Amino acid sequence: MGSPFISVRGRVILNAEALNMTESVGNYVKHRRVPVVVRRGGEYLTLFVPAISGESIAHGYQALLAKEALARGLNVCDLCSKGIFLKSSNDRILAKSFEAHFKRLGKKPEDIKDAYELEKFIITGCVVEDVGGFLFAPAGGGKRKVGVNQAKRTSNFYTGYMIPVAEALENAVIEPQLHSRYALGTEFVERGEGGERAQGQMIYYVEIASAPYVFSLDIDTKYIGRITFDTAHAGELVVSKEERKERIAAALEAMRKLVLELGFGAKKTRFLPTIEWESLAIAVSDDVWTVPTPFTADYIERAKKKLNAVSEGTKLYTYTKGGEETIEEVLDKAIEDALNRA
Ligand SMILES: [Zn+2]
Repeated sequence: MGSPFISVRGRVILNAEALNMTESVGNYVKHRRVPVVVRRGGEYLTLFVPAISGESIAHGYQALLAKEALARGLNVCDLCSKGIFLKSSNDRILAKSFEAHFKRLGKKPEDIKDAYELEKFIITGCVVEDVGGFLFAPAGGGKRKVGVNQAKRTSNFYTGYMIPVAEALENAVIEPQLHSRYALGTEFVERGEGGERAQGQMIYYVEIASAPYVFSLDIDTKYIGRITFDTAHAGELVVSKEERKERIAAALEAMRKLVLELGFGAKKTRFLPTIEWESLAIAVSDDVWTVPTPFTADYIERAKKKLNAVSEGTKLYTYTKGGEETIEEVLDKAIEDALNRA
């Protein structure tokens, strides 16, 4: 029973997207921006560019994971199965989201006496928190005489900001688009003070962005189904070997959907972007081995060079647009390899 490490990097062109908005000021909705430092000549230059946060990708990934796990008959807590990732942050949330799991085990929240039992209970009861981690930090936890003061589980998957690729930094655009909700001629249009001018016509601006973005996701299966927080029990498997494998399969399937269906981001009902994967590299290894950043165009070449220098039983699967293999075939092969190692 191995623990495959899966590292995904890619470049994807997203046109006219509003996937990650930060705030609205009046009728103006802003796209997320982040500072990026690049070297130009002998100097460093800071540019503010459109971005999609890792939190946004993580939310999408966990929503897909919840669906995959449920479809396989695996446990997912009540809140995670609804796409609400409060993840056991306090007693009330724990009691509410794991009602069924408490019943299943014939337990009550007060039966959980320490952090080891708590992590075991949450891992067995929710695949999303097993894979994506949780933070149990009840108010006044430090002063508690009984029960668990705090416990945390680090996420077993890693992702980060999608920013425009290096060659496109200066050319990535954010543009406010005017929209109006047409209501003229209806009784719902408010009248001005003199009762003359129609004012109810709603106009609003949504910032859209277009750029080739970098994408990154790593999945470390080492601790899936295993205790991490209590050092005396760290590494202990608390689900069956078969179930651990099934959980890894669900995590990989969620990864496939995340890439193929661009399963993250907001405002997709009216600002569905055009999506075009330019390239993708997936490394499957027996231990930590990450594909270099796709920020610069030569990342697949650099990945191959890295593989020549250092390998963790690593196999590299790559897709480039116009190449021999489709992105679906590349994902298929990588997922099959990872499952064979699990
Ligand atoms: Zn959960």
